[in-house]
Amino acid sequence: MIEKTVAELSVALASGDISSVELTQAYLNRIAELNTELNAFITVCDESALDQARAADAARANGEAGALLGIPMAHKDIFCTQGISTTCGSRMLQNFVSPYDATVVKRFKAAGAVTLGKTNMDEFAMGSSNENSFFGPVRNPWDTNRVPGGSSGGSAAAVAAGLCAMATGTDTGGSIRQPAAFCGITGFKPSYGRVSRWGMIAFASSLDQAGTLCQSAEDAALMMNVMAGLDSKDSTSIDRDVEDYTATLDDSLDGLKIGIPRQHFAQGLNAEVEQAIRDALREYEKLGATIKEIDLPNNHLSVSAYYVVAPAEASANLSRYDGVRYGYRCENPLDLEDMYKRSRSEGFGDEVKRRIMVGTYALSAGYYDAYYRKAQKIRRLIKNDFNAAFEEVDIIVGPTSPHTAFKLGAKSDPVAMYLEDIYTIAANLAGLPAISIPGGMVNGLPIGLHLVGNDFAEAKVLNIAHQFQQQTGWHRRKPSAFTQEG
Ligand code: GLN
Repeated sequence: MIEKTVAELSVALASGDISSVELTQAYLNRIAELNTELNAFITVCDESALDQARAADAARANGEAGALLGIPMAHKDIFCTQGISTTCGSRMLQNFVSPYDATVVKRFKAAGAVTLGKTNMDEFAMGSSNENSFFGPVRNPWDTNRVPGGSSGGSAAAVAAGLCAMATGTDTGGSIRQPAAFCGITGFKPSYGRVSRWGMIAFASSLDQAGTLCQSAEDAALMMNVMAGLDSKDSTSIDRDVEDYTATLDDSLDGLKIGIPRQHFAQGLNAEVEQAIRDALREYEKLGATIKEIDLPNNHLSVSAYYVVAPAEASANLSRYDGVRYGYRCENPLDLEDMYKRSRSEGFGDEVKRRIMVGTYALSAGYYDAYYRKAQKIRRLIKNDFNAAFEEVDIIVGPTSPHTAFKLGAKSDPVAMYLEDIYTIAANLAGLPAISIPGGMVNGLPIGLHLVGNDFAEAKVLNIAHQFQQQTGWHRRKPSAFTQEG
């Protein structure tokens, strides 16, 4: 049962083949058995999950329906959950229990989904390997000596290993798509503003976007039907009709124009990954698409611009953790200044401190124009490149990552880690919807196919991803050590 997609589980629940309590118990058993090895969950909510499952079964017996009613899920530990700890992967928030639910969490609850627990992540969502978590690294179910990607690595590993049916994640520069690629699952980042950020702990507010980690584009559509929409509590959320994202999944791709950016097939891309991506593109041709090379001439500036904008915004967002109002406070401070200093020095990990220093520097008087303003200008150029590209093509396709999952500890240089997001960051800078879907295998490890759509074209992106998944079986592959039989 745990290998089924959300869409399939939904049918099984509706027909009475299985109850939500049975399903929830099955996942809780998997978590109890496998989480020590994977470290995908920081918090597991056995009792409340079973309570919610019983409520879902009762609601169904009362004639209620809904695609996610009774489906067991996990939330990345960046989403505030009332009464359950929300750590953001940090010592700073190790003991923080939120008095409210994030809007995303509230919407899944209202749809009757069951919360199994909170997933591990890089501290404050900063990282690409999940090695920056205060709660220790997450391991990749395909090879436990390798990283699952980050920062939503706990959610990705949990879905890939069958510890939950679906999970939430957040993506500021690639944190949904890169772990989805490394773990062989589907990871969708909607357009900026499509899903509310309220109650989602802020990293870089102009880039952060909530999204989905699950087994298929169809499941992502089911999740989006619940998550998307205006929220008066988030002033950047968009007042725009929410489509039924499942309605157009089966649309034909005949005549679809795919653009492949020359810049994504250049130096640095592993040759076997490139071959797998080119094979995947051939599948699209069979579906009636035409493929055309395009240019994203400023793409090479995206990582540099991001590592000015994101740390700058992070330095402002993280100033609230001062030992007074939230989170960790040091022992026996000498005075107020000592308390600020030591609470922050002890509460934050190295990568978070690095970003706060870079961001504070970039925003300081005299440097603002040289760094922050310049980065914002590059951001506009990157957006203009996409606008020009979407005059010619419907979707932009390439690899999610230049390589497959790397070994734990393999990237100790921060800049090497920053380059992980070379193909994903531009979509955040431009606010565009993007998805990573399993696109092939290289040496026993999954690779991600990356699709970027135009503003608010989430339905189209999901349709194009779904058609590929109807045609190929890559998203059905499971890590053998973590299959139910394995
Ligand atoms: N890896 C990028 C970073 O470390 C992106 C993280 C994210 O999307 N949250 O900032």
